[in-house]
Amino acid sequence: MPRLALTFDDGPNPEWTPRLLDVLADAGARATFFPIAWRAAAHPEVISQIIDGGHVIGLHCDEHARHSQRSIEWGRRDTARALELLESVGVRPALWRTPWGDTATWSDQVARENGLRIICWTVDTHDWRGDAAADMFRATRDGLRDGAIVLAHDWIGPGARRTDVRETIAYTRLVAEHAIEAGLELGNVE
Ligand SMILES: [Zn+2]
Repeated sequence: MPRLALTFDDGPNPEWTPRLLDVLADAGARATFFPIAWRAAAHPEVISQIIDGGHVIGLHCDEHARHSQRSIEWGRRDTARALELLESVGVRPALWRTPWGDTATWSDQVARENGLRIICWTVDTHDWRGDAAADMFRATRDGLRDGAIVLAHDWIGPGARRTDVRETIAYTRLVAEHAIEAGLELGNVE
């Protein structure tokens, strides 16, 4: 079945991530989460809910910084720290979504050293701007097709111009309805 992968960065949040998980569960959808490691470690119960929902958890970061502005030493340190924090909540990631999708000449090497595969996205919701769900849906609809990877956020990251993720959750509901009509399965990143 044609498949679309929803991805959510920068969580978890103990109030909002579970609301998103409810929407995904109602839709029978699987998604991929890239939490900020210290937030994951602070909310192990939310991480367990994500895992129990059949979703995949990948590495994002501990400190949310651009690789291109940091050294490989920083990259190794941040990755080691993030993996340790994720392991403390039962997660051993295989995928890596770098902060802002930004990479440096060293990113691939650090990925290899840690058995990680860097993945980007094909559709950007720009949900951090605080746009309404219907607007995000209209703007992304053409990209919602087999093999697409959709970037969204289940909590607030640096630079976000909104204070909650209500519209992202509403957007997810719209994508789930669209997926049924379009014969798309909402699955994990492969
Ligand atoms: Zn991020």
